[in-house]
Amino acid sequence: MSEILKHVKEAEEKGVAVGHFNISNIEMMWGIFNVARKYEVPVVIGVSEGERDFIGVEQCVALIRSLREKYDYPVFLNADHTYSFERVKEVIDAGFDSAIIDGAQLSFEENVEVTRKCVEYAREAGGHTVIEAEIGYIGKSSQLFDELPEGAAVTEEMITTPEEARKFVEETGVDMLAPAVGTVHGMMRKGFNPKLHIDAIRRIREAAGVPLVLHGGSGSSDGDVRDAVEAGIGMIHVSTEIRVAFRKAIEKAFEEDGEVVAPYKYMKGAVEEVGRVVEEKLKVFNNTL
Ligand SMILES: [Zn+2]
Repeated sequence: MSEILKHVKEAEEKGVAVGHFNISNIEMMWGIFNVARKYEVPVVIGVSEGERDFIGVEQCVALIRSLREKYDYPVFLNADHTYSFERVKEVIDAGFDSAIIDGAQLSFEENVEVTRKCVEYAREAGGHTVIEAEIGYIGKSSQLFDELPEGAAVTEEMITTPEEARKFVEETGVDMLAPAVGTVHGMMRKGFNPKLHIDAIRRIREAAGVPLVLHGGSGSSDGDVRDAVEAGIGMIHVSTEIRVAFRKAIEKAFEEDGEVVAPYKYMKGAVEEVGRVVEEKLKVFNNTL
């Protein structure tokens, strides 16, 4: 079994969840990694298509691999929401630890088809890349917004059913699954996010037979998230809250010193603020910290 999957399954057994945090640059990577190390928990660094194009696909691999080797630490690299087979193939070839094929906006059959193709390629390539798939649309962007994304599956009638999850895993052989269970990508500006369907999570985990991943972790209440972990979520994604913390810290740095030009000076606080968000989340995901 791949290392990343092993750690997620271990977390499930302990009743905790592995944190997945997105980065756009090396500063965010340090903010996340420093805190994960402090708590000695495995961590997944995520890069969306846009984020990895910005950093460089191969450079992402080199960065995370260097951390893993230098610190002998369970830190992994995930290709977050990827919308085509070609781009999944690219990260498998580059050596990512996992990749998400996001066919949530396709029909069920089309989603099965593209996911199966990614799983088959990942196995052929040697199995070093674990494949996660998405069922149920929960919005796309990690931003702040005033209203819920249109078409997002947040109500009881719209969320993923256990039967869908079972069928999907059976037909694709996918390693991990992100069902729609009430969260949305991004964060409501007014500090309100939809409620998680805890019973559904329990039933979906049982039916799916593979670890479940929760997306849209930003903005959900700590109690909701704890209950979701308890019910069978093995990994949780956080992105928007990190982005907000990063930006605010840089704004503050410029307010305090309008003349500063050295990035390592004005971004120092941003690394720490990213770490602060990660710390809060890890405490919730691990319960015992
Ligand atoms: Zn996501």
